[in-house]
Amino acid sequence: MMNQRKSSAISYDVIVLGVGGMGSAACFHLARRGLRVLGLERFDIPHMMGSSHGVNRIIRLAYYEHPSYVPLLRRAYELWRELQAAVAEPLLQITGSIDAGGPDDEVFSGSLHSCELHDLPHEVLSSGELRHRFPGYRLPADHLAVYQPDGGFLVSERCVVAHVVAAQAAGAEIHARERVMAWEPAVDRVHVTTDRGEYEAGQLVVAAGAWIGKLVAELGSLVQPERQVLAWLQPTRPELFAPGRFPVFNLAVPEGRYYGFPVWGVPGFKIGRYHHLGEVIDPDHLDREPHAADERLLRDLAERYFPDGAGPTMALRTCFFTNTPDEHFILDRHPRYQQVVLASPCSGHGFKFCSVIGEILADLMQKGATRHEIGLFGLDRFTAPPSVASGQPGSA
Ligand SMILES: Cc1cc2nc3c(=O)[nH]c(=O)nc-3n(C[C@H](O)[C@H](O)[C@H](O)COP(=O)(O)OP(=O)(O)OC[C@H]3O[C@@H](n4cnc5c(N)ncnc54)[C@H](O)[C@@H]3O)c2cc1C
Repeated sequence: MMNQRKSSAISYDVIVLGVGGMGSAACFHLARRGLRVLGLERFDIPHMMGSSHGVNRIIRLAYYEHPSYVPLLRRAYELWRELQAAVAEPLLQITGSIDAGGPDDEVFSGSLHSCELHDLPHEVLSSGELRHRFPGYRLPADHLAVYQPDGGFLVSERCVVAHVVAAQAAGAEIHARERVMAWEPAVDRVHVTTDRGEYEAGQLVVAAGAWIGKLVAELGSLVQPERQVLAWLQPTRPELFAPGRFPVFNLAVPEGRYYGFPVWGVPGFKIGRYHHLGEVIDPDHLDREPHAADERLLRDLAERYFPDGAGPTMALRTCFFTNTPDEHFILDRHPRYQQVVLASPCSGHGFKFCSVIGEILADLMQKGATRHEIGLFGLDRFTAPPSVASGQPGSA
């Protein structure tokens, strides 16, 4: 039911609900276009309670999940570089990326396909060639790897801070420790109630990460928050896991699909497994404490395929994926309220896109349309017959 009430709430052009990865980028892009923006964040800026913490996130051009992500990635790289220049802080580290698996596995074959289709510089390496070139890797003899030199990582928590600093410099108002309790559509407006006050805006971006299903009833049964765990292990040969010697990786092996990083920020080689133990959870009841079984799973993999990286444990952290049924993003208008845009469920591979998604959100709010191709992310794909080729499960 549309609310018709007149209120004395403070008014903005756009309210951004959630100032994590996506929301911070949205605040910046909206504010720099001169819109009056309020960003509302229930925790701190930055914080370790959502999906964007744990030091860093992989960025790569070779995209096995679906080649149509590549044009968005080209723009994402440009925008990350602009942001790091604006805040004079290194946010993007280039290490090269490895996508490896059996010859028919989608991590290898999909990555190669995206490189060929988009004419990306790349090399195909046998397992032996990979080990010779990057000796930290000891993959099965029949595995193949795509090496793409533009891959690397983003310093994710600092990226959130950088977007917030840049947004504030452009005039955005950001409130941390202020939890949105409810939002209600009014005619051409949205009314937002928090635990500190009442606000109104012409439009609302919901970028609430793992909590989006709790704030948007229509997504409640569609998106699934999932517990993830990351491990940092001290390498026994640290020189093999330095950023110049060890590209970030996506790896499909019989044990599952894994990703990893060189030593950076924490004195350990970082490793994670997609869909870790398959634990779908209520985001308000995440078991944040890593357990022995979490550590064992990641250490086993490191011992088998990265034996020189599997020394003492340096750190363990938990985090959320927010999965959609096909593991592509949801980036679309609310099915009933045109003044509300939904921008969060990114199925474990969204951080690298935050910069360009911020731009897309600003396009949608300011102009009602975007030049970027976002058809893959529409909500109607879950109700209409599929119109796009299906891609591969989520990734980093
Ligand atoms: C372990 C792990 C590894 C990953 N690796 C990669 C990778 O290598 N590369 C990659 O590209 N992606 C990766 N991802 C995915 C990526 O990190 C996420 O897609 C991205 O961080 C999601 O950003 P977000 O803004 O949707 O969520 P968040 O950054 O969590 O932001 C959502 C925000 O909304 C706030 N919020 C929620 N409810 C309310 C409320 N009621 N009121 C106010 N604020 C609220 C939350 O506090 C939070 O700050 C990984 C994810 C995980 C968990």
